[in-house]
Amino acid sequence: MPDTPMLEIADLHAFYGESHILHGVGLEVRQGEVVTLLGRNGAGKTTTMRAVMGIVSKRTGSIRFRGTELVGMAQHRVARLGIGYVPEERGIFSSLSVDENLTLPPVVKPGGMTVAQIHELFPNLVGRGSTQGTRLSGGEQQMLAVARILRTGADLILLDEPTEGLAPVIIEQIGRAIHALKRRGFTILMVEQNFRFAATIADRHYVMEEGHVVDMIPNDQLAANSEKLHTYLGV
Ligand code: ATP
Repeated sequence: MPDTPMLEIADLHAFYGESHILHGVGLEVRQGEVVTLLGRNGAGKTTTMRAVMGIVSKRTGSIRFRGTELVGMAQHRVARLGIGYVPEERGIFSSLSVDENLTLPPVVKPGGMTVAQIHELFPNLVGRGSTQGTRLSGGEQQMLAVARILRTGADLILLDEPTEGLAPVIIEQIGRAIHALKRRGFTILMVEQNFRFAATIADRHYVMEEGHVVDMIPNDQLAANSEKLHTYLGV
């Protein structure tokens, strides 16, 4: 594992207009890791991801991706470095077919997955090529949203609540896909409210409260920290 983190965030502040939302976030993600952001609603998890992508452009501090500073960089340039973002609302084109959704994403780096590889990862999408986005189930939409990003060649994937609102059997399938991506060498930072699910896939967890990171818990210490975690998450 290289010494320099793939993604290194330090003293990150971010603003929506005059609202100061992130107050000095610090975290790092190493190549090949699966890392989660845990925390109550409104803690700033989504804003952290949006700040990395440059969607929230009013930010100070430092976000380094493979050593390149992202603060001050335009959104389209961030994506071209090979960072893919799957927002909570999924971002698929619902009026287009599955196949159209899979062929439209711009390739940002060589090495994007082929449709055959996507089908191997998400068997639920096999045979659904001509189905319109709106006719997919929530789970299939989530799979398509991830698949679109994998087509681009991005190798750092930011997932915002990929399991939200999905049935347990679908959550299991998403979990298997994330394991498969990790085996293939992808690096994943994900927001996850369901820490039981997070425990089955992640190497480490950052806990956020009121716009900053208050704790980092390695996955093998999650059980020992369960009381603390319940307090953090208010569950
Ligand atoms: P959730 O699970 O509720 O999305 P979160 O930890 O991801 O929680 P954020 O979505 O990052 O939290 O929100 C952090 C804070 O920023 C909240 O107080 C929220 O109300 C505020 N916020 C989010 N989006 C905007 C926006 N577009 N304009 C102004 N304030 C916003």
